Amino acid sequence: MKIRPASPRLECTRCSYQEPFTRALATCPKCGGWTEVYYDYEQVAQAWPAALRDRPFDMWRYRELLPLWDDANRVTMGEGGTPLLRATNLEMMMGCSNIFVKDERQGPTGSFKDRQAALSISVMREMGVTEAIVASTGNVAISYSAYSTHAGIKLWAFLTSLVSSEKMREVAIYGTQVVKVTGTYDQTKQVAAEFSRRQGLHIDQGIRSIAARESMKTVAFEIAEQLPLFLGTGSTPWRAPDWYVQSVSGGMGPVGVWKGYQELLGMGLIDRLPRLACIQAEGCAPMVRSFEKGLDEAEPVLHPQTLIITVATGSPGPASTYLARVIREHGGAFAAVSDEETFRALHVMAKLDGISMEPAAAMAFAGLFKLLSEGVIQRDEVVVVNCSGHTFPVEKHLLEEDWARTVEVPTEAPPILEEGLLGSLDNLDRNVQRIAILEDSPSASRLLRRILQAHGDYQIFEAHDGRTGLEMIRRERPDVILLDLMMPEIDGFGVLDALKKEDELKDIPVLVVTAKELTAGEQKRLSGRIEKLLEKGTFTDEDLLEEILEALNTART
Ligand SMILES: *Cc1c(COP(=O)(O)O)cnc(C)c1O
Ligand SMILES: [Zn+2]
Repeated sequence: MKIRPASPRLECTRCSYQEPFTRALATCPKCGGWTEVYYDYEQVAQAWPAALRDRPFDMWRYRELLPLWDDANRVTMGEGGTPLLRATNLEMMMGCSNIFVKDERQGPTGSFKDRQAALSISVMREMGVTEAIVASTGNVAISYSAYSTHAGIKLWAFLTSLVSSEKMREVAIYGTQVVKVTGTYDQTKQVAAEFSRRQGLHIDQGIRSIAARESMKTVAFEIAEQLPLFLGTGSTPWRAPDWYVQSVSGGMGPVGVWKGYQELLGMGLIDRLPRLACIQAEGCAPMVRSFEKGLDEAEPVLHPQTLIITVATGSPGPASTYLARVIREHGGAFAAVSDEETFRALHVMAKLDGISMEPAAAMAFAGLFKLLSEGVIQRDEVVVVNCSGHTFPVEKHLLEEDWARTVEVPTEAPPILEEGLLGSLDNLDRNVQRIAILEDSPSASRLLRRILQAHGDYQIFEAHDGRTGLEMIRRERPDVILLDLMMPEIDGFGVLDALKKEDELKDIPVLVVTAKELTAGEQKRLSGRIEKLLEKGTFTDEDLLEEILEALNTART
């Protein structure tokens, strides 16, 4: 049975604009407000929870409420379905009875960004994106890097140079183009946006992206399904905690989780909403401070003063307004903790309950300790803390010297960059080689594309039959052609014949990549007309790159 999202529609959160959900419009075409996707909840409520019984425990079990059209575009590495752990020793120490840890370290790349990456990269694939840009404080770049390998998407990650070298190296190991920006995260986002404008490349919309927010709902759904295993059910089949605690940067997690619980409440699967506790670092707590001051919009923190770069967003934008309203109307809390308190919480969790995590995750536990001691959270309440991530070390010797490029933001630059200051981007000007891939099988084509993308700055054009391929070559004038022999319409031999007849095309080097055993006659048809014959399944990525570089060199001389 093909499961589709239940007739989703796009609605503006500000005005009355609506349309059927066919495109992921991040902003309302009428008023520029934030959009949300809503589904046919009645239909889903009838199917759930029974329909979920036979599905694997991963984030895709909630398929009907996720904004992807075709399952064929799904990019998955086993994300979601993380354990809910009871922190028994911590409970004992704090005199609490129900502290649970949602162990998001157990995602494929070690953070809860894997949910976001899985859905966002799937949606990018559905949109036909093959090259994309992301600005990140670390974990989004790591996760998007891993997932984009599967989708054959070339990724540019713009990271503030404050990101730990462990995280930077992890991004690079996946073949992502790493660009270090010597500035704050907010400046890094601006540099990335400018690069995207100049290059005409797709840029990830961060919290404005529907896919990203919707992915975070699955954290809420899973917790609601898992809690009854510990606490039993009440009047509804699933159960929401009293508190959901998370360290917050841009606010994607709590915004998505909140929507998830609202959907479950609307469908009658839970009987109440949890309260949100959003924790930030004292040295970068724009949401906490603005809430305390009763401001509607967060005042940006221009110079974050915290060692915990992963969550140091100085200008959180619309999420801040949204979360402040939720917490004002439904209860909940904002809290700021010092780096010292965070590091202490990190030790406590590792030493008491065997859960070692990265500082950005420990910040949530420090927040929990603070809210318990202030009596905001009661000791008998059911609390779920998102243990949002863990850092993997990638050893230094695994990467070549030049694995990152640097964009210098002048130190005297204002915290919010102006256009003219982005001249530093000129360093990134690209000396791109253009490569055409004519390959019948989309998956073989994706592999070739991926190999090239992971190793250099190539612009890649693909066609899956000879006729389209020839048109593409005439239009794009690539530097090298990778040619399959078995193709519909016009096969590889025919393409070669056509190329050799045209003066502008006859000198473009051609590498034939084939799965076919060639007859003597066929060998003869190729001989002298191609650079190299590569047999599928017999060459490695290095062989391929070497041949391409060689072909490019001969073409130039
Ligand atoms: C991204 C991140 C957060 C904060 O996420 P929000 O976007 O603010 O929800 C917290 N912890 C870790 C480990 C993260 O990677
Ligand atoms: Zn609108």
